Amino acid sequence: MLPTIDIHCPHCGANGQVMAPPSGSVLIGSCPACDGMLAVFCGATLPLDRAILQTGAPEARFDHLMAVLGEHLEATVDQIVAQMVASGDMLGLDASQDDADLDADDGDEADELVDLGPITPAEVQRFLKDELPRIDDRNYFQALFS
Ligand SMILES: [Zn+2]
Repeated sequence: MLPTIDIHCPHCGANGQVMAPPSGSVLIGSCPACDGMLAVFCGATLPLDRAILQTGAPEARFDHLMAVLGEHLEATVDQIVAQMVASGDMLGLDASQDDADLDADDGDEADELVDLGPITPAEVQRFLKDELPRIDDRNYFQALFS
């Protein structure tokens, strides 16, 4: 039994389940109840504009996805920072210390993530065209993740 996640359509309020997408991925699809487009990202179900994603220029599609995903990411990062400040014990620092001290302790892992750069429109197109239709293809999935 594959793991699933619960989703809640932000367009019409319908509830459903989808196969849990690989960690860090963006799953794009349609609500079966209202046909509104959705993005499942970091455990959230976010509303997408079908007109932009189906007929917009690549730049418009990119900007729309970045706005929707970025907004969610900002809210998530806000929460993380608020928790760090509230707990006061993250890295043994208090909230008044500046970012330079935090950066010094980041290490290689964080740097690798930063070096990946933004998702390009070409990558979004490739994902929509080549990878999304195969999301339920067991062999393809295993080729990527086994
Ligand atoms: Zn819906």
